[in-house]
Amino acid sequence: MSRSYKVVTYGCQMNAHDSERISGLLDAAGYVKAESDDADVVVFNTCAVRENADNRLYGNLGHLAPQKAKRPGMQIAVGGCLAQKDKGDIVKKAPWVDVVFGTHNIGSLPVLLERARHNEEAEVEILESLEVFPSTLPTRRESTYAGWVSISVGCNNTCTFCIVPSLRGKEKDRRPGDVLAEVQALVDEGVLEVTLLGQNVNTYGVEFGDRQAFSKLLRATGEIDGLERVRFTSPHPAAFTDDVIAAMAETANVCHQLHMPLQSGSDDVLKAMKRSYRSEKYLGILDRVREAMPDAAITTDIIVGFPGETEEDFQATLDVVRQARFASAFTFQYSIRPGTPAATMPDQLPKQVVQERYNRLIEVVEEVTWAENKKLIGTRPEVLVAVGEGRKDASTGRMSGRARDGRLVHFAVEPGQAIRPGDVVTTEITYAAPHHLNADGPVLSHRRTRAGDAYEAGRAVRTPGVLLGLPGVGAPRSEPAADACAR
Ligand code: SF4
Repeated sequence: MSRSYKVVTYGCQMNAHDSERISGLLDAAGYVKAESDDADVVVFNTCAVRENADNRLYGNLGHLAPQKAKRPGMQIAVGGCLAQKDKGDIVKKAPWVDVVFGTHNIGSLPVLLERARHNEEAEVEILESLEVFPSTLPTRRESTYAGWVSISVGCNNTCTFCIVPSLRGKEKDRRPGDVLAEVQALVDEGVLEVTLLGQNVNTYGVEFGDRQAFSKLLRATGEIDGLERVRFTSPHPAAFTDDVIAAMAETANVCHQLHMPLQSGSDDVLKAMKRSYRSEKYLGILDRVREAMPDAAITTDIIVGFPGETEEDFQATLDVVRQARFASAFTFQYSIRPGTPAATMPDQLPKQVVQERYNRLIEVVEEVTWAENKKLIGTRPEVLVAVGEGRKDASTGRMSGRARDGRLVHFAVEPGQAIRPGDVVTTEITYAAPHHLNADGPVLSHRRTRAGDAYEAGRAVRTPGVLLGLPGVGAPRSEPAADACAR
């Protein structure tokens, strides 16, 4: 009987992308995805960036201890950023853990599980640097219509609030041919939308000496037949160049959506964060993006309450939010992350000050995003129906999906209309809220897609690592980790 597995993911979308690799590796090694909670192997893919990451992990491990005591064959593995940071401490704190693997050796997981089972003792393997690009690993993707494709891992910046550089290392760029081969493989499986991932996509190519490599890559994705939507995350404002704007505007399948972290609107805070752009440069990029693509939806990340942030600094952030006209913003309250330079900075702000500013920021963000969304009433976006979001809500009779600009659209479905996640519809916006749009008229067009067929048939999208040059899954060798969080 095949052993079953379950992967529990913490953190950002990039960790979710790593987990697809972990699932793919375990599939390739003969495990099967567990249909219920009692898996033979439970893998925690951890994040060290989010607050309380340790508490959550050790709490969950504690819950599993009695279960494991009752089932001798059960194994528990812990990987990801927290494993890279805590290393052997994990098995000291939770001695019932069988395997600890780091961000640079995801590919070793099947071998480590095997070895731990054979030797009946915990295996801890953490590597300090990347050896082989993680995207060469086999993948099991949960979505039939959209896929993440990593173009680089690691980061050469040193933002003072961020743990990524110390856990994920320097930027490594994947070769364009490999990226495009993976995109093509996904499209061959019926995938319609691809998001290119990197900590700093604008510096893509720095490792192989082509500063315009990212815009060239965007243009090259435009040549792939059947690829309808291309997105990317995240660009860094300091490295943002106009050739990327031109490529976005001139490549038909690249969505007019830009997610560009602002973090703060205060130049003093940006300096303390070691973010080497200033608010004027940031706003200048947005102007040029909108000049080339007037319909562009711009989203961002903002941190409030960074050490030393004054009321004046905070007001500068509110000013930039108003000027930038964001379509949405991910907002974070600053809190200490051990191991980052900001953790030991003087002038850490009291929690209530951070909370109060955060509340005011949310109010302004919602005012801005609502005003931006209202402009779309009467427009007719094309919506890619989404899994989860795509389930019909029994009380409203609506399904949901994403417009090309990334906005969430809830649309009315008539009884008997067989629309599936992965299908594409057009519909007219009748109502706008700060975080979504509604379309309560009839669906104007419905296109059935191969992704919708695959969803209906319950097929997972799999990419075999060997296709992309993986020399032998499960061999006793070290494989690298993937990207870290988007912050
Ligand atoms: S916040 Fe982003 S750009 Fe800054 S160090 Fe972290 S990963 Fe790099």
